[in-house]
Amino acid sequence: MNEPLNDKGVIHRYRHFLPVSDSTPVISLSEGSTPLIHSPRLSEKAGAEVYLKFEGLNPTGSFKDRGMTVAISKAVEDGAKTVICASTGNTSAAAAAYAARAGIQCAVILPAGKIAIGKLAQAFVYGAKVVAIRGNFDDALRIVREFGGIDGVAIVNSINPHRIEGQKTASFEIIEDLGDAPDIHILPIGNAGNITAYWKGYREFHAAGRSTRLPKMTGFQAAGSAPIFYNQPIEKPDTIATAIRIGNPASWQGANNAVSESGGCIDIVTDEEILAAQAWLAANEGVFVEPASAASVAGLLKCHSNGRCSTCPFASPLRPGAKVVLTVTGHGLKDTETPVKFGGFTPAEADANLAAVRAVLDQS
Ligand SMILES: *Cc1c(COP(=O)(O)O)cnc(C)c1O
Repeated sequence: MNEPLNDKGVIHRYRHFLPVSDSTPVISLSEGSTPLIHSPRLSEKAGAEVYLKFEGLNPTGSFKDRGMTVAISKAVEDGAKTVICASTGNTSAAAAAYAARAGIQCAVILPAGKIAIGKLAQAFVYGAKVVAIRGNFDDALRIVREFGGIDGVAIVNSINPHRIEGQKTASFEIIEDLGDAPDIHILPIGNAGNITAYWKGYREFHAAGRSTRLPKMTGFQAAGSAPIFYNQPIEKPDTIATAIRIGNPASWQGANNAVSESGGCIDIVTDEEILAAQAWLAANEGVFVEPASAASVAGLLKCHSNGRCSTCPFASPLRPGAKVVLTVTGHGLKDTETPVKFGGFTPAEADANLAAVRAVLDQS
């Protein structure tokens, strides 16, 4: 099933670091190889060299594709005819796309009314069966876990270790692009699979002699849904950043290990800070990310300035030329409602002639 020319996905590129063999069918959409974009204006604010790992440029628009290529390939190898997942939106989009590619069924369980419209559309268009439950993500994941053990059904949430394996490849790419690991890595935290995966990837490349250092792992949760920060499950998590609206993260322990082993920290950002960071990044660097992804940027703006980190344990000045990588996890076009609603963006109207248009432009 290795297809001609399909030599770009993460399984092909990192097969020796992944749980695949020659007999594993590779279900790929050429995910990964996302750009690491230098951010001059964030660098200036932080007093360090800041880069954005723009995961919105994956095939379904989020980093979830990296894990899904491995999870679906392994599910097909194991004979699954159906995959199932709970999702805040992006996992279901990725699962549906890779299941379609594999020619198997996909069922997704979502919290009703809490999925960005672009992500919901993806699940439907890729042909998944969609069930919206009257409950939150944590309820959806509880139900999905109960499907475990049914013949022919594979769970593709990040409780499936193959997801973590695939997602760790983002760390590999960053090390290859920078020539070494960064000093600090910042990312948003929801179910905490991704911070767990990045830390695993950084350690594996370090152990393989591909990098000389390990980054401090820094995770940001939305203030209204910050169980790890407050060290207790949140019964009714709330944030406009729906991708990280999770009250009881499955990889909680993985996040704690990443932070304590690397000397990093977990902190929170408010919805206002998230929305402001989203708008700032788009208007100042030309990078449009979804609200959850902007938590990374909001976190950097909150905690880092002039080469220092104010709230984290590593308050000492960064070394000159220190490198900070922010994962911006998903594309802004997945959820256009949120920024439009909060930004109040309505075009000014004008009559259809040059003078009228110029008059409006001069006013705004
Ligand atoms: C899934 C997701 C997250 C959260 O990642 P976890 O692994 O659940 O911590 C953040 N941002 C986006 C866009 C996501 O899709």
